[in-house]
Amino acid sequence: MQVIHSIAELRRALARQSQTVFVPTMGNLHEGHLSLVREAKRRGGPVVASVFVNRLQFLPHEDFDRYPRTLERDVELLTGVGCNFVFAPDEAELYPKPQVYKVAPPAALADILEGEFRPGFFTGVCTVVLKLFQCVQPAVAVFGQKDYQQLKVITEMARQFALPTEVVGAPTVRADDGLALSSRNGYLGESERHEAIALPQFLRDLADRARDTGTSLAALEKAALDGLRARGWSPDYLTLRRRSDLLPPTDAERQAHEPLVTLGAARIGATRLIDNIEC
Ligand code: AMP
Repeated sequence: MQVIHSIAELRRALARQSQTVFVPTMGNLHEGHLSLVREAKRRGGPVVASVFVNRLQFLPHEDFDRYPRTLERDVELLTGVGCNFVFAPDEAELYPKPQVYKVAPPAALADILEGEFRPGFFTGVCTVVLKLFQCVQPAVAVFGQKDYQQLKVITEMARQFALPTEVVGAPTVRADDGLALSSRNGYLGESERHEAIALPQFLRDLADRARDTGTSLAALEKAALDGLRARGWSPDYLTLRRRSDLLPPTDAERQAHEPLVTLGAARIGATRLIDNIEC
C-alpha cells in the first residue's frame, strides 16, 4: 500500500489506474471505516482511502483540535484490509490558501437536523468532498449510512454537478450492544459508554412506533426527547423523517408504509453522538 501526502504525487500514482474506488475518512479508523474499504474492494477497482481532518466542517467550539489523529495505526489497519493507496494530505497541502470557493448545499436538505445544530457543517463537508473527488477522480465513492444526512447531501451534490462518481452507501457497523461505532466513542468514560446505547434504543423505540398514528408524531418525539433528558442526556433532535427528503412524514405516509428513518443527535457528557435507524 502506498501512502501519499501531496496532490501532485497522488495524481502521478493514479494516472495509470482506472475505475478507482474512494473511501474518504477523517482517520482514527475503526471497523465501520474498514467495512467501507471492504465494500470498496468488492467493487473491484484500486481502492484509495483518504485521511484528513477537515477544519471547514467544525464549528469554532467543536473538537477540531482534540479530534484523534492516529495516522500510523490507520495505515496499518488500511494495509490489513487491502487498501491500495492512502491519501493523507496535511492542511497546508489541501488548503494552501483559505478555501474561499465553497459548495453551498440547499437549505431544505442541509440546514435541517445536523445542519440546524451545526450551521455550515454540510458546506464544509461538500467542499472537502468535492475537492477530494477532484484529487482522486474516483468512479465510485463509498460513504457510511451512519451519517445518513451526509450520504444524502453528497449523493445530491454528485447528481447536481453531474460528477462522474457513483456515490454508494454502506450499512452502519455497531458494537455488540448496538452502539454505532464512531471515532467519538473514544471520548466516552466507562459509565458514559454503558449509557450510550440509550441513543440507538430510543431511535429503535421511535421506529417501532412509526406506524402507530394513534399518537401524534410531535408527542412521540417529545416523549423520546424527554426520556433521554431524564437519563442525563442533552439531545439536539430525535425525529422520524421520510427517507426521500428527510422531512416529516404525514400521518397518511406513516400508515402507507412510506420508507422512513429515525434520526438522532444527543450529547452525553461532553460527547455528541449521532445515529439513525431505517423503518
Ligand atoms: P468519519 O471519519 O467519521 O468522517 O467517517 C468516514 C466515513 O466512515 C463516513 O462515510 C462515515 O459515514 C463512515 N462511518 C463512520 N462510522 C461508521 C460506522 N459505524 N459504520 C459504517 N460507516 C461508518
